[in-house]
Amino acid sequence: MTKLPAATTINKTKLSITLGDITRQETDAIVNAANPGLMGGGGVDGAIHRAGGSAILQECQQIVSRQGHLPTGKAVITTGGNLKTKYVIHTVGPVWHGGNKGEARLLASAYYESLRLAVDRNLKSISFPSISTGAYGYPVDPAAEVALKTTALFLKEAPATLNEIVFVLFDTKTYNAYSRAIKDLHYQLAKEDYDETDC
Ligand code: ADP
Repeated sequence: MTKLPAATTINKTKLSITLGDITRQETDAIVNAANPGLMGGGGVDGAIHRAGGSAILQECQQIVSRQGHLPTGKAVITTGGNLKTKYVIHTVGPVWHGGNKGEARLLASAYYESLRLAVDRNLKSISFPSISTGAYGYPVDPAAEVALKTTALFLKEAPATLNEIVFVLFDTKTYNAYSRAIKDLHYQLAKEDYDETDC
């Protein structure tokens, strides 16, 4: 079997994928694939609220009463409640409507805005789930490509304050899709480096 790279480094930040439960991560922040009402729900959202306790939900309610529902592609931050992480970044990915309703741009925005918040808070590490590929129905292969390419682009542009970004994937089908996408990214970055040193 071919051994695929499960990690790559961009601008001093380690980008990796792992199979597991994001609620157990000890990174400075974990990202929640939330819904616009920030009220908790199923999937990763439900798991984070169950494990994190009522403090997270209370903070979410305060955010919604201040600024209303969270638009798709935007992100907000709360503390981590009972979780090992210090912060939870809540973002809303797009519902899949076939691919012609701006889904890729909105998914990229969900990752980008979450990373922006982490860097603004000077956090060193962050974990992401596979946003939108559960109840929201985004096909996992193109979603993995958007997730990893957006992260790579962010890291190339941003000051290198993050040490580590981890994609925590809950099942092997999702893990394998991200594994293919990180391999593609790895080779693409290596080629760009080669092209740069070549000229
Ligand atoms: P969305 O509504 O954005 O599609 P879901 O929570 O339904 O969000 O699914 C997003 C991804 O999160 C799916 O791949 C799902 O299997 C995964 N997931 C569910 N629970 C967890 C968990 N505890 N840790 C990491 N990923 C999870």
